[in-house]
Amino acid sequence: MTAAAEENRPLVVAVIGAGPSGIYAAEALTVQSPGAVEVAVIDRLPVPFGLVRYGVAPDHHSIRSIRSTLERTLERPGVAFYGDVTIGRDLVIEELRGVVDAVVYAYGAGADRRLDIPGEDLPGSLGAPEFVAWYCGHPDAHPVAGPAPGADAVEEVDLGRTMIRLVNETTSAVVVGVGNVALDVARVLVKTADELADTDMADQVLESLTAKRITDVHILGRRGPAYTAFTTKELRELGQLPDLDLVVSAADLELDAASLVAVAADKVAARNVAVMREWAARPLTGASRRIHLHFWVRPVEIVGAERVSGIRLERTAISPDGYVVGTGETALLDAELVVRSVGYRGVALPGVPYDAGTGRVPHAEGRVIRDGEFSPDEYVTGWIKRGPTGVIGTNKSDAVETVASLLADVASGRLVPAGRSGELDSLLAGRGLSALDLAAWHRIDAAEVQLGLSHGRSRTTLASRDELLTAAQPPSGSERTDPRPELVHPHPELVEGPSTGSGSGV
Ligand code: NAP
Repeated sequence: MTAAAEENRPLVVAVIGAGPSGIYAAEALTVQSPGAVEVAVIDRLPVPFGLVRYGVAPDHHSIRSIRSTLERTLERPGVAFYGDVTIGRDLVIEELRGVVDAVVYAYGAGADRRLDIPGEDLPGSLGAPEFVAWYCGHPDAHPVAGPAPGADAVEEVDLGRTMIRLVNETTSAVVVGVGNVALDVARVLVKTADELADTDMADQVLESLTAKRITDVHILGRRGPAYTAFTTKELRELGQLPDLDLVVSAADLELDAASLVAVAADKVAARNVAVMREWAARPLTGASRRIHLHFWVRPVEIVGAERVSGIRLERTAISPDGYVVGTGETALLDAELVVRSVGYRGVALPGVPYDAGTGRVPHAEGRVIRDGEFSPDEYVTGWIKRGPTGVIGTNKSDAVETVASLLADVASGRLVPAGRSGELDSLLAGRGLSALDLAAWHRIDAAEVQLGLSHGRSRTTLASRDELLTAAQPPSGSERTDPRPELVHPHPELVEGPSTGSGSGV
């Protein structure tokens, strides 16, 4: 037994990011640790749950219900939620490392990947992370309290209102990429507001969708149907939407020799091809909306003068050395909205080791590598550890691996609890900052349920930060005092840049 364990000092760990990967790390720490452990789960957003709240599509009720399990972990003895605390603004990493025994980075991979083609910055061309943030009611996409769709549309800076205009001026949309996020985006684009009314979408989002005119959504795969990244359950869901034709050509679904090998080796790929073949064999019904699946095409230009009016596609093939190459044969597809859904990308958090090549924090089995050596007190889990892959549950085994490394380091005496209980609270209090705790989340939760019930829904997401902070207020007499609007960091030289979205893209 180590001296620290003998003295019964709790192990104090800060987890950055209150999405599934961070909360699974808190769970693994409290379940696996043989001694006392205190876990502070910190998020820059006022609310916990990261991607479960701000990434999983609102109409995926069963996946979103994982929230209850995550919430139970935040309620565990020894676990505390610290919402509305931005690392890199309110505290820098070095300060945080100075008041806890270990830090676990779990801040996700919230940024967009680009296509690097002409026209990509035209109004009407956007990344899936932005679009998903909008329809999930993320505060970054809703800086102004809603609802105000159609009221006026002057504020270009207001992503929420810009998005409303884009969606309402579109009849034909393109989604680039054949992963699960592309399916989420396509579904939300074709579904009517009535079909989405049983979700917890923010009022301003749902109301804006009532004016939507989209009839056609085109999903583009740069390789063949044997190489989709969809899971079959999510793909099949498209086929269950009423009044919708799925348009896919039988010729596009033919498999060359390499594709036959691919489907033989991958059951999911084989099932996906079978689902799409069944769709190709269905006669079109003349439904009022269509989802088109295109394979062997890649975008080479997004076309438009003031805004997107189309996308130029090039036919593709696989080169003998295995790369996707253009054949030179191009065609123009009319569209007013192009959403690139080609995967997420991790970003650097000021002061945290980061490999720009992989978009991840460098590590081995969750132990962070800083300046070529294992850092004694830094660990990483989730998308910022392994890249943006896997389903929500994948983060659980990932967190278990990281926590096993951390606890092995405690057992070996490499990481020694230093009796730091309460030091984070003292640091925050000394700076005049009051984090939002789980009780604040419960008040927000109750306010969202109440708002939903007031107009016949089971919950309505409060989207803007102001709305969330107002709902988080305790009953009068015990208001939160927090000087953040005027906050000037006491060590400006330590703040290397803006915060990077911890929690939003876990
Ligand atoms: P993803 O699964 O990695 O799919 C990205 C897609 O983009 C691939 O089809 C990829 O094609 C394509 N792509 C990449 N670069 C491209 C380019 N330059 N031009 C054209 N296409 C390009 O990413 P994702 O859809 O963002 O999903 C991220 C993770 O979240 C995945 O693990 C996913 O399963 C998970 N997720 C799960 C659910 C769910 O379970 N319901 C929902 C949403 C997300 P190539 O294969 O040719 O590279």
